[in-house]
This record gives sequence, structure tokens and C-alpha cells, in this order.
Amino acid sequence: GPILAIESSCDETACAILSPEGEVLAEKVISQEAHAAFGGVVPEIAARAHLALLPDLARKTVEASGLTLHDLGAVAASTGPGLIGGLIVGANFGKGLAIALDKPFIAVNHIEAHALSARLPGVSKKNISFPFLLLLVSGGHCQCLAVEGIGRYRRLGGTIDDAAGEAFDKVAKMLGLGWPGGPQLEALAKKGNPAAFAFPRPLKGRAGCDFSFSGLKTALARQIEPYGNTALPRSVAADLSASFQQAVADVIEDRVRHAFAMMEPPTTLVAAGGVAANGVLRASLTRIAAEHDVPFVAPPLRLCTDNAVMVAWAALEVCHEAARRGLPMPDDRAVRPRPRWPLSEMQERFAVQAE
Ligand code: ATP
Ligand code: MG
Ligand code: FE
Repeated sequence: GPILAIESSCDETACAILSPEGEVLAEKVISQEAHAAFGGVVPEIAARAHLALLPDLARKTVEASGLTLHDLGAVAASTGPGLIGGLIVGANFGKGLAIALDKPFIAVNHIEAHALSARLPGVSKKNISFPFLLLLVSGGHCQCLAVEGIGRYRRLGGTIDDAAGEAFDKVAKMLGLGWPGGPQLEALAKKGNPAAFAFPRPLKGRAGCDFSFSGLKTALARQIEPYGNTALPRSVAADLSASFQQAVADVIEDRVRHAFAMMEPPTTLVAAGGVAANGVLRASLTRIAAEHDVPFVAPPLRLCTDNAVMVAWAALEVCHEAARRGLPMPDDRAVRPRPRWPLSEMQERFAVQAE
């Protein structure tokens, strides 16, 4: 039967119901607004908001699907990595529902869900086959993964300091823009000159595909310093935005080029995470993909940012993979939420069950 999935690992409270084939029957997301006043996600506020929002959101999602709870075949939830308070809320709600309905509960790794989101039917014209190269760039993550199969993820490199979205948000804050800053910085950058400031390109040309953004942030802070407490002229803020955004895109382009060389030739370049919405970055990634003669796929924005559709889809992929291997349908009622859950452990799901 259809699967209901819950996402609560950060500041999005989300539910979705997918058919066993991956058709989206209903989907609802609430982006918590309470954090804007703090200029970042406050874990305790997020957990309480998930708790307040989830029951009603789940009910409305079921209503919107035209199904009843008893039509569901399984329940899934992100159980890590992420903010532990929110994960506990979502996982326990999902487990409770699964137990009440006597259906399996599937624990989904949030990063695995991002990684597989581009394979959701309808996202790409052609079905994306393995291996593919995934660039995950969000507020909390910045990494390149070789996605070699379901449960088989190889981390090629990642940030050694800030995530890309985090850098966008911090810089936007310095420029006096609202939070989250990425979209506003991109809008302002359209009025600026990307060559106005010669910002560094951290780690560019270095072996591997690690990322670093904190030096870039510091370089920008240095340019703002002379203005002290006086407001930045709009044109300077625009030039700073454009120059910063160009530096980030250049660095990511260089790192992804290296990532290509670190894996068996990928069938596709996939980008996910909120920063994948950025137009200048998309242009860079389109160029690298063309150089390698593979398609570039970025799921629509609602699938790139945190959502429950990708969680449901990842659960379906895991169930299909288990079936393909002749293993029983997973039931993860005993799985506990984890703030950290490396993707390298995902293969164990199939190995343990094979014993
Ligand atoms: P997680 O990291 O746990 O996946 P998150 O909420 O931090 O979750 P997302 O919701 O995927 O991340 O994305 C939000 C981030 O994406 C924010 O940092 C935001 O500034 C950034 N972002 C969104 N749109 C753009 C854009 N057009 N340009 C640059 N950054 C953007
Ligand atoms: Mg978010
Ligand atoms: Fe996420």
C-alpha cells in the first residue's frame, strides 16, 4: 500500500504520501518561521514546533490524499542525521502510528533521502542510473558523493568548515539582509558586478574535493569593516554579493570537476539541497556536466530543500532493494534517532538482514 513519510530533522515539518510506484498522492511542508528572528535555526524551538505542528499536518496530508490511515502500507521518518530533538519527535510519531496501524516503520537516513531524490519518477526525463555524482549543498551540508547503488554511497569530499548555505546565510547577515540569506543575496547580486572584489577561491586546484568557505567569509568581513556602523551603500552590497556568489560558484565548480575524476564515470551530475536553487551555481554545474557529456539534473526546489517526498521515496527504494535481494521488508521500530549517521553505514542494512 501507499507510504506516509515524516521529515523533521531541521526546520521543515513535512509529511508526504507516495504510492508504491513513487507517485506523490499528497505532500505538505511547513517551513518554521520562528527562527528568522534569531538569524538561524534554534534546535529547541524547532523540536517544540515539530511537536506542535506534526499531528495536524499528518492528518491533513492523509485527508488530501483521499485515503484513510488504514490504506497505508508503511510509515517512514528521517531518523538522522540532524537536530536530535526534531528527529525524536518525527521518529516517535512515525513509530507510534506504525505500531497503531500494525504496519512496518522504515527509518530513513536524511542524506540518503537527498541523494536519491533525483530518482523520483518524473524528476528527470530519463531514469537516473548508478553510479551518479551528487553535490549536496544546503544550510547544513556541503559534500560530493558517488552514489553507486541503493545503500552504496561513497563520500568523495566535503566541507572542512562551513556548509555552502551557512556561508551564504552568514554573509547575507553581514550585508544586512534577512534570513535565510541565500535567496536574498542572489537577488541583490543580480544588480552587482561579480568582478568588483577579488575574493579568494579557497582550496581551488587542491587535490580531492574538500570545500572551505570560512576564508571567503572573512575576506568579505574585511571589506565591510571600513564602513563601521554606517549602512553599506546599496551598490557596494550588490557588488559584494555578486563577487561572493561568483567565488562560491567557482570553488564548487573546481571541486566538482575533481569529484568527477575520483569515481567511475558517472551517468549524471545531480545537485540537491537549498543552495542548488542558485542560478549562478546551476550555470557552473551545467557547464561541467556538458564537459563530461552527461546530463545535469537538479530536482525542483521543493524537492531540493527539506521535504517528506524524498523521505518516502528513499524508504520505497530501500524496500525495493530489499525485495530485489530476497530480503524481508525492513521494520525499524527499534532504530533510534541519531544526530550523526554516516552514509557509509547504510550498506549494513542489507548485510545485517542477510545473516
Ligand atoms: P539541511 O542542511 O539539514 O538539509 P537546511 O534547512 O539547512 O537543511 P535547505 O532547506 O536544503 O537546508 O536549504 C536552505 C539553505 O539554502 C539556506 O542556507 C539558504 O540560504 C540556501 N539557499 C536557498 N536558496 C538559495 C539561493 N538561491 N542561493 C544560495 N543559497 C540559497
Ligand atoms: Mg531548511
Ligand atoms: Fe536536508
